[in-house]
Amino acid sequence: MYKVYLKPGKEESLKRFHPWVFSGAIARFDGEPEEGNVVEIFTAKKEFIAKGHFQIGSIAVRVLSFNENEAIDEAFWKNKLQIAYNMRRAIGVAGNPTNNTYRLVHGEGDNLPGLVIDIYDRTAVMQAHSAGMHMDRMQIAQALSEMMGDAIDNIYYKSETTLPYKADLGAENGFIKGGSSNNIATEYGLKFHIDWLKGQKTGFFVDQRENRSLLEKYAHGRSVLNMFCYTGGFSVYAMRGDAKLVHSVDSSAKAIDLTNKNIELNFPGDKRHEAYAEDAFKYLDRMGDQYDLIILDPPAFAKHRDALRNALQGYRKLNVKAFEKIKPGGILFTFSCSQAVSKENFRTAVFTAAAMAGRSVRILHQLTQPADHPVNIYHPEGEYLKGLVLYVE
Ligand code: SAH
Repeated sequence: MYKVYLKPGKEESLKRFHPWVFSGAIARFDGEPEEGNVVEIFTAKKEFIAKGHFQIGSIAVRVLSFNENEAIDEAFWKNKLQIAYNMRRAIGVAGNPTNNTYRLVHGEGDNLPGLVIDIYDRTAVMQAHSAGMHMDRMQIAQALSEMMGDAIDNIYYKSETTLPYKADLGAENGFIKGGSSNNIATEYGLKFHIDWLKGQKTGFFVDQRENRSLLEKYAHGRSVLNMFCYTGGFSVYAMRGDAKLVHSVDSSAKAIDLTNKNIELNFPGDKRHEAYAEDAFKYLDRMGDQYDLIILDPPAFAKHRDALRNALQGYRKLNVKAFEKIKPGGILFTFSCSQAVSKENFRTAVFTAAAMAGRSVRILHQLTQPADHPVNIYHPEGEYLKGLVLYVE
């Protein structure tokens, strides 16, 4: 097996079980590994410390195991997937008659850096974010199929846009197993069309489940604006929560189609809902002050650290508009899913916005990603979703 030797002292983060080796920490290679190969990592004193997938780039190795005797084979994948599944059962999102939409594997959070698997009823959507997970996809799919038994029929592989483009892996989206056009899944008793073929991420934003559920509790009798609605997740929960009216807005016409379809699926013919394909900033400028429950769940404004300043400005501008228009006694659910934006930075952007609008604001809840998107304690970077629920006097 290929070996990687670290520069002296560069094993410290691995000793604390951090799952990445940066390229700058590497002194030399034994052999010439190709992208996606499993390599063994040794300290400068030639002591084994970890093994993982090699890739060209700033993160050179993503650790799969800290155990020298553990082989990375089908049994390895099956064991890791089983551990992940048991956890989802333990927290009640899997094996739940009212819910068959959940994240089975959340990358580093499940000690499988570079791999995401979402379950939508009888279909698993598998996504590789590293060359190694792409190379091992068939073995992983086989292990997944065995581990899940007859609980799933289909495995759809969706990695065309998530792999490092320089590696030129030529990944193609498609079914590895089965092939179903039934794409309706259930989240806490609500039905959703999941567009794994064309949709963003694996087709649905599974990570907002618990926050959507919280929103439902606040929706009663309120006029709701769901900004950046995508599949209409928050809107469907607001409808069930007995909102007076629900308006969904997204700049993408496809998203608006999906939202309308999902509302129709759960509340056919219900006139309380309307959807608009429009830019968020334009809509917020032209809308009146009829809303007393507003959701702002924009796409990641900062995809990289260098975009941080602009991103914070973006969050501030967006939130100012909501604070200016929301009715007295209104509730604002505001989010950031940018990993590069810290909880503190996001909070500062939001409270600056509140001050600019001159509103008196209290924090009711501080939200994050749900338990099926766990944060590996040794990899705090895995915490990415931040939300605040605010009472605006
Ligand atoms: N809240 C959603 C996820 C939002 S994803 C859920 O619970 O599933 C972000 C969405 O913002 C995408 O659907 C994208 O089309 C939309 N979007 C991006 N830029 C926008 C803009 N300037 N105005 C309105 N919508 C925008």
